[in-house]
Amino acid sequence: MRTMDWKGKITQILSTPPLFDEPMRFHTSLRIGGPADMLVFPSSREELKGVLAIAHSAGVPIFLVGQGTNLLVKDEGIKGLVVNLARFNPEIRFLSNHIVKVGPGVPVVKLAREAMNRGLGGLEFAIGIPGSLGGALYMNAGAYGFSIGDLVREVATMDFLGNERIRAKDELHFFYRKSTFQDEESIIVEVRLALHAASPEELQMKAAQIQKIRRSKQPQKPSAGSVFRNPPGNPAGLLIEKAGVKGHVIGGAQVSTLHGNFIVNTGGATAEDVLNLVEWVRNRVRETQGMELELEIKVVGRNGIERGR
Ligand SMILES: Cc1cc2nc3c(=O)[nH]c(=O)nc-3n(C[C@H](O)[C@H](O)[C@H](O)COP(=O)(O)OP(=O)(O)OC[C@H]3O[C@@H](n4cnc5c(N)ncnc54)[C@H](O)[C@@H]3O)c2cc1C
Repeated sequence: MRTMDWKGKITQILSTPPLFDEPMRFHTSLRIGGPADMLVFPSSREELKGVLAIAHSAGVPIFLVGQGTNLLVKDEGIKGLVVNLARFNPEIRFLSNHIVKVGPGVPVVKLAREAMNRGLGGLEFAIGIPGSLGGALYMNAGAYGFSIGDLVREVATMDFLGNERIRAKDELHFFYRKSTFQDEESIIVEVRLALHAASPEELQMKAAQIQKIRRSKQPQKPSAGSVFRNPPGNPAGLLIEKAGVKGHVIGGAQVSTLHGNFIVNTGGATAEDVLNLVEWVRNRVRETQGMELELEIKVVGRNGIERGR
């Protein structure tokens, strides 16, 4: 099969037209990233299965993206097929016993708000965490001592051959910003979360407090959230602040003056600027604080996520 064949075949089965050589900076919160060979937006299981089957038979690499709020896509871009799941299955269904069934494309903040309005608690911590539910589960996103994995009852996944599986909570693991999904090639296609009954007024109050804290601590410029994982007992932001590197600039990238663990795009930053700044911060923290910083954001190159950074 020639290279053009798989692109044409995939185009034919999709209801939303795909994009070719699409700069990923338009699809990431950092506003950085070179071109994806082909970017698709499947809207149903059937479309997703069809896309996977064509990509598989043509031997095309696949990379998944939600809302791109935890990604640094390198300037060289992404080879093969990028599957954007932010429009896939945007359904929220409240079932009995405080269970909610949700598609991976649903923004976590929207889900948290709808749950709160119905008097269902558990997701207040997520107010202000941008991104899709699929991305949140993959990252086990969290804040203030809570994370999304704590709420999982069941997850339906599809492997890259299109085979679906339903897995109960005890078949999955969730640790600090880590999940089962980071160790396998699978697509989160549906999630059931267990919430609890609570007073909508109390939930709104909690959410308002959380939002207030976030507004005072979180930079407004484009970012991908916390860049580094917190070493045990040591918030990375504090280590960076103590190392005296807040505000440091390389090219268009800057260590936020507001929050040491955020790198912001001040305009026109490249992925190389960010990676150079990451190395500079790491060296300064190692030299002055004697601590090693590991990345929380995922760095994506031509061949997908780069491990071991
Ligand atoms: C201003 C700001 C504040 C933030 N605050 C927080 C915070 O407080 N706590 C926190 O934990 N994070 C935070 N983040 C990081 C980010 O919002 C979360 O990690 C978010 O959950 C990522 O969701 P996403 O849809 O953007 O995923 P993406 O960034 O698009 O993808 C992340 C990973 O998930 C994979 N993925 C996406 N969808 C699927 C799917 N359906 N199936 C399988 N894999 C999938 C991707 O391949 C990728 O490897 C913040 C980011 C920003 C910009």
